[in-house]
Amino acid sequence: MGWSINLFRIRGIQLSVHFSFLLLMAYFGWEGWQDSGMTGLCWSLAALVAFFTCVVLHELGHSFTARRFGVGIRRILLMPIGGMAEFDSIPRQPSRELLITLAGPAVNFAIAAALWPIVGSLRDWDSGAFPSSLGDFGRLLFYANLVMGTFNLAPVFPMDGGRILRALLAIRLPYLRATYWAATVGKVLAVLGALHAMYHNYPLRAALFIFIFLAGEGEYRAVKRQDLAEAAWRAWAARLATPAPPEPPILTESRGP
Ligand SMILES: [Zn+2]
Repeated sequence: MGWSINLFRIRGIQLSVHFSFLLLMAYFGWEGWQDSGMTGLCWSLAALVAFFTCVVLHELGHSFTARRFGVGIRRILLMPIGGMAEFDSIPRQPSRELLITLAGPAVNFAIAAALWPIVGSLRDWDSGAFPSSLGDFGRLLFYANLVMGTFNLAPVFPMDGGRILRALLAIRLPYLRATYWAATVGKVLAVLGALHAMYHNYPLRAALFIFIFLAGEGEYRAVKRQDLAEAAWRAWAARLATPAPPEPPILTESRGP
């Protein structure tokens, strides 16, 4: 995906942001400014940066686990709709895919658990209001991490929950079939999610579901292509391995003089 800016590397993993992320920052800055001037702008941008830091930590959870299994990580890309770790390949062993996938939401739940002591009770808190103190800020992050961890576990392939579903199906089914069923469940849920978001007037959330729909279809096609290519290679290798049948004698027409 073009239109991105490389930021820095975290233990060898490149962190990049998509150009549209700058528009999101401008939008958040403007909202904060309208709410309470310069203070609002600072809190709003700080909340955005803290939120996306948690997104990066989530993706690093996936990436460091994947690296333990020898998977190369090209980069982590941040977009307004979330983050994406780009792997060279995804292990086809269900146990490995499960561990890599679970590591992301586990990071969010760990952050939420770490924030719990300073958050205390959520009863007297308005989650829609702008943060204006460190306590509010901690609560916002606590809440954001709980939502992020839980939302990602929805079985909408290729989100984490969908990958978990694929890995569980792949224990019993061939990998391509497992991907097909996980992608199908994911696409149905993504369409419902987009319709729900549009009905409630959340255009960014609707865009997220449309993106997930397309990504699910794209990844299923990629697995299918890979399977077809492997089948072609196997057939070719099998042909090489079987000894060629004896050549039939070449019959030449002979004419008498
Ligand atoms: Zn994830």
